[in-house]
Amino acid sequence: MKTLIQGGFVVGFNGTEHEIFKDGVVVYEGNRIEFVGKEYTHPVDKKIDAKGCLISPGFIDTHFHSGINAGDYLLNDSTKRDFFASNYLAHGGPTREGAKHAHLKDVDVGQRFSLIHLLKSGVTTTFEIGGPGGDPERYVNMVDEVGVRCYTGPSYKNVSFFHDPEGRLEYDWNDERGSEGLKKAVEFAKKFAGACNGRMNTMLFPGHVDSCTPELLQQTRKAAKEIGVRVQIHATINLFEFHTVMRLHRCTPIELLKKIGFLDPEVSLSHCIFISGHSWLAYPYGDDLKIIADSGASVAYSPLKYLKLGIVMESFDRYLKAGINMGIGTDTFPKDLISDIRYAALGSRVAERSFMAGHPRDVFNAATLGGAKMLGRDDLGRLQKGAKADIAIVNLGDIAFGAVRDPIRSLVETAVSRDVRTVIVDGETLVDNGQYLRHNEQELLETVQAKSEQIWQTLPKWHWSGKSVDEVVPPSFRIS
Ligand SMILES: [Zn+2]
Repeated sequence: MKTLIQGGFVVGFNGTEHEIFKDGVVVYEGNRIEFVGKEYTHPVDKKIDAKGCLISPGFIDTHFHSGINAGDYLLNDSTKRDFFASNYLAHGGPTREGAKHAHLKDVDVGQRFSLIHLLKSGVTTTFEIGGPGGDPERYVNMVDEVGVRCYTGPSYKNVSFFHDPEGRLEYDWNDERGSEGLKKAVEFAKKFAGACNGRMNTMLFPGHVDSCTPELLQQTRKAAKEIGVRVQIHATINLFEFHTVMRLHRCTPIELLKKIGFLDPEVSLSHCIFISGHSWLAYPYGDDLKIIADSGASVAYSPLKYLKLGIVMESFDRYLKAGINMGIGTDTFPKDLISDIRYAALGSRVAERSFMAGHPRDVFNAATLGGAKMLGRDDLGRLQKGAKADIAIVNLGDIAFGAVRDPIRSLVETAVSRDVRTVIVDGETLVDNGQYLRHNEQELLETVQAKSEQIWQTLPKWHWSGKSVDEVVPPSFRIS
């Protein structure tokens, strides 16, 4: 079936960069784009009227965890003073006795919710770190039902984190845990590459520079090359990691990755905030940025996660100018990629102390072409003949947008996920009129609320403090 979308502003791709067709059209047949331009004169089977809308390539989220949903993030965004804004350590380390009570038990609800939430912000392809960890078959079926395009794999590391009752963090190192994890990840990568009608692809996701041994990281690169998959690792994500690596290896995490031969164009680094010279580090030595740029590795930046903690990348523009391929991720809640590109732009202006930094063009490129390059895909992140029919239609016709001159600027400065009208993945319409079509949203939301209440109630059983959720994360006002 051939479908024509009448824009609006159509973001086409001319082989080098995006360009806008005002009152343009996009035609797709099956799961491929057939035509992008001003006018299409051949017959079509179906027309979608999207006048007043932006017709964009679907966005690529380069860092996302479905396993942590709305309820968990209430806790994950709070942290301990002695953790220096290392939020996942505060959240991810239960007490040894309480570990069995920690986190959401009904994983399927949380993951399905997170993926649908992401899809509704116009994301058509996502990196999904660790999602298939528990029950791979169930997970793959769930992704197939949700309909998103997904690069995924179980995450693995040598360390398990626990808290003692005084709030001290303990690292349990276990070589076998790491190699077992890698083995399972390789099995998953081989078995499920191309699943979900080709929408699922696989990657290797070793945990963090300070939670994996150099040997495990080297084995990861070797295995990835053998089976032909890409790799993403959390790198320079918090001060704990920076100082742990500095103490153990006497170099920065990025220098360590270089030293062990980890970095190349098939690797992306999640977050990559605390590189040499960052103002929080008191470490103005070396040149991590140049090491990354020279290696060809990419960076997946999740700006909102860091803004919540009072941190900015220093800076998105500087990384880009160094020649690093940049992508955007949504490693917190809400998982609203459109808002995250705005945060990337504004964060860059603050870091550079310049209104000229954080150009809408650059953050839009990161959310489309940057993600595609990270995956080595020239058929994603663009609307061009032959590319995948992965499309986001954003309504710019609301009073909030005012008069539109540059639709990309309007998108970056004003839009949120609730402005996304239609999302098409692989030629299938999954969201229309702002509603996800394959699941009752209200029902899903009620289930997520109920499950989140359960998580919050179990907090004293596994949190090191033994305190209630209202003591750990005090509400804005008293709730009676
Ligand atoms: Zn992450």
